[in-house]
Amino acid sequence: MSVSVMQQKQFIGGAFVESSSGETMEVLNPATGEAIAEVPRSGAEDVERAVEVAKHAWADWRGKTPKDRMELLLALADVIDEHGEELARLESANVGKPWWVAKDEPPAMSDCLRFFAGAARNLEGKAAGEYVEGYTSLIRREPLGVVAGICPWNYPLYMAIWKIGPALAAGNVQIVKPAEQTPLTLLRFVELAQEHIPPGVLQVVTGDGIPAGDALVRHPDIRLVSLTGDTATGKIIAKNAADTVKRLHLELGGKAPMVVLDDADPATVAEAIKIGGYFNSGQDCTASSRILVNKGIYDDVLSETVKAVEAMTVGDPATDDEIEMGPVISGEQQERVLGFLERAIAAKATVVTGGGALGDRGFFVKPTIVAGVAQDAEIVQNEVFGPVVTVQPFGSDGDAVEMANDVRYGLAASVFSENVGRAMKVAAKLDFGTVWINEHLFPLTPEMPHGGFKESGYGKDMSLYSMEEYTRIKHVVVKLAG
Ligand code: NAD
Repeated sequence: MSVSVMQQKQFIGGAFVESSSGETMEVLNPATGEAIAEVPRSGAEDVERAVEVAKHAWADWRGKTPKDRMELLLALADVIDEHGEELARLESANVGKPWWVAKDEPPAMSDCLRFFAGAARNLEGKAAGEYVEGYTSLIRREPLGVVAGICPWNYPLYMAIWKIGPALAAGNVQIVKPAEQTPLTLLRFVELAQEHIPPGVLQVVTGDGIPAGDALVRHPDIRLVSLTGDTATGKIIAKNAADTVKRLHLELGGKAPMVVLDDADPATVAEAIKIGGYFNSGQDCTASSRILVNKGIYDDVLSETVKAVEAMTVGDPATDDEIEMGPVISGEQQERVLGFLERAIAAKATVVTGGGALGDRGFFVKPTIVAGVAQDAEIVQNEVFGPVVTVQPFGSDGDAVEMANDVRYGLAASVFSENVGRAMKVAAKLDFGTVWINEHLFPLTPEMPHGGFKESGYGKDMSLYSMEEYTRIKHVVVKLAG
């Protein structure tokens, strides 16, 4: 399917509307650099309009039963299944995702929505009882009201679904803002699903972080903002949300270490790095961007990894479904990634393979491995968010833990070893919200939480833990008669 340039409107109050200013913004295909769509560039006025509609919708939606909420989520899941290929192709065109990556996202999204359809009917809490003589105490687990989701560009519809599932399951009404680079699949999804969505229960406002996202963060009638985005954005939002004492759920950046102990198999590790480091062009908050290898097998792991990475096919996913890696999201991101490499080279790091832009069309960066880096080097400490991994040797397992934890992020990590007991000992000491053993990046499953420690944020996506973000606990006390 080819994707033609389209004029897309945003979804407010059950209708597709322009921005109040009439302004639009271009959406590009990063594999070609060409515009593929225009969407409304919204501001505070549009957010205000959406919030007013949401408050109105909330008055009715709050009376719905868990069964009603389940039925909406199941209908949304069916829409994704029915239009999976179309949504995946559109995502591939808007993000530059290879087909093998894009095609697996819709089934994961509908599975997530079905998990939350079940979760809507399974919220638990403390039992009602007479904790004080003469009184019965009971707990109400209530939705928050109007909540907002602010999404990133690396998994545009997928991350939106991670927010829509628990928000609607818990009984909230929601306004979602996609990233400015990647609004297309979320808009198409609500277009396909509009007949199932009661007006105002789920709305989509498109626009830049400032003013559209900022207006959501500052709005006094929005009770929660769930952001998936950069740590720097999370910090700004946390400050701005303080004025309305707004609840936040922050899924932020990462700098995941892959710790390779000396009894791991180098060829297996190399294959895991090829996936963990370069999946989605390395634009993954859990990407294995720091490979820490016991010095006894360092050379073997490095040479196997170079072989695996150099064999990867890179190109425009629209030209070939077998392409393994696509571009990065934008010219700005390409420059950012190349800037990290230039500064690393200036600091005497060694580019073992890759190390520059690729081709003269679109925003490609060669799959890159950088060695000879100090622990305090910028490229080790900061999220690059591109197809770049660093490789560092270590001595003892204890040294590996120290190096792994020595970053401000804490989202994900992995340990590779033939000895699971030894790997478990290391895993227990790692300060990261997810730790894989003999695997990196997969699997993710809706039953299990995803979320970071330290500057990777707080709160959880997926699992019943995420329902905590989207609900509030009320204690109701009843005085018993005579
Ligand atoms: P970003 O922070 O630039 O943008 C994220 C969203 O925030 C966008 O919708 C943007 O418009 C909005 N935004 C920006 N400034 C804002 C402001 N002042 N107020 C309100 N909203 C604002 O992030 P990105 O570049 O789109 O995505 C990449 C980042 O997301 C990476 O750092 C990555 O690690 C992170 N990420 C984290 C997870 C996770 O689960 N922890 C998952 C995916 C991506």
